[in-house]
Amino acid sequence: MSRLEKKCTFSTDLLKWFELFGRKDLPWQKNISPYRVWISEIMLQQTQVQTVIPYFNRFMKSFPTIKKLAQAPLDFVLQHWAGLGYYARARHLHRTANIIVTQYKNHFPDELTSLTQLPGIGRSTAGAILSIAFQKPTPILDGNVKRVLARVHAIDTDISETKTIQLLWELATQYTPKRNVHHYTQAIMDLGATLCTRTKPRCTACPVQKHCLAFLTDTAHRLPQKKKRNPIPHKEQFFFLIMNKKKQFLFVQNPERGIWGGLWCFPHCDTHQSIETYLYSTYSLTCRQIKILPPLRHTFTHFELNMIPVVLQTHTRRVSLGATQWIDLSQATQLALPAPIAKILSRYMHNTPTWEETSSCPV
Ligand code: SF4
Repeated sequence: MSRLEKKCTFSTDLLKWFELFGRKDLPWQKNISPYRVWISEIMLQQTQVQTVIPYFNRFMKSFPTIKKLAQAPLDFVLQHWAGLGYYARARHLHRTANIIVTQYKNHFPDELTSLTQLPGIGRSTAGAILSIAFQKPTPILDGNVKRVLARVHAIDTDISETKTIQLLWELATQYTPKRNVHHYTQAIMDLGATLCTRTKPRCTACPVQKHCLAFLTDTAHRLPQKKKRNPIPHKEQFFFLIMNKKKQFLFVQNPERGIWGGLWCFPHCDTHQSIETYLYSTYSLTCRQIKILPPLRHTFTHFELNMIPVVLQTHTRRVSLGATQWIDLSQATQLALPAPIAKILSRYMHNTPTWEETSSCPV
């Protein structure tokens, strides 16, 4: 079979399969628009479809148009993102919405160069927007598509290497059809998400089995190749649930850049620091320790964090640092909280020590 024939039958076979078995009722597949495709693509990065669905629906209810998103305060946008992780994505969405509203007069750009210049939109996301929303034949290469193409061509070089990625882009470009590209893009993403999965590819049900070198050579289980990462370092920090006499808790807003950027958090410090010194030197607070809650582990891309929640009480209300707030527990759940902080809060709410409860270990 010539390369051209292979290319044609690959996309035709995939499209036929999509017509019969593809997912067509996901929320972002209805009322398709560049805005909805963009939001869904950003949410779906590193996140499962089932997790994204309620976030997407809630986001669309609050920000039905790009203008509404641009006009919303960043904090409100972050509230809608809280729990999805990788918060830079939400900040980029907000910035990009503002750029589109102001510089592009509310019209979503419809060509690759303009799209990839916007914050948070890479070549693959731009490809998805162009192919699905504008039906322009543009390839995508997200994680699922990389895996499918690496297997179909039995590419056994490291999938994170620049050369391998270049080769995969060439293949993705060759396979992308001129017609029906909106369905093709969804089909190849679907294939990677539902059949050609990372651990247990279901080759017997696969529509492109006859094109697949990994299937023919029985190597699908070990492709694509990925260089093993060094083990990630561990960190341990105290997270302080500081309660005042009004039973309000102290929350701190993280700076925009860095981990959990722009989100609200409990004051925290490394466990090798003295709690007393840290709270006094940072917030001018003197506190009394009430209780230590069970620790919580959270894995970031580059390190693992062991979080030790410490419940404290204080008589001081004045705090010497900006971007802090005393907040009632009932309102705290409305804040843009990172998922582990929301979890600590919920654990606390289900196991609340009273103000009167004392501790034998003052800080
Ligand atoms: Fe993936 Fe198997 Fe299909 Fe090849 S035949 S693309 S390995 S599911």
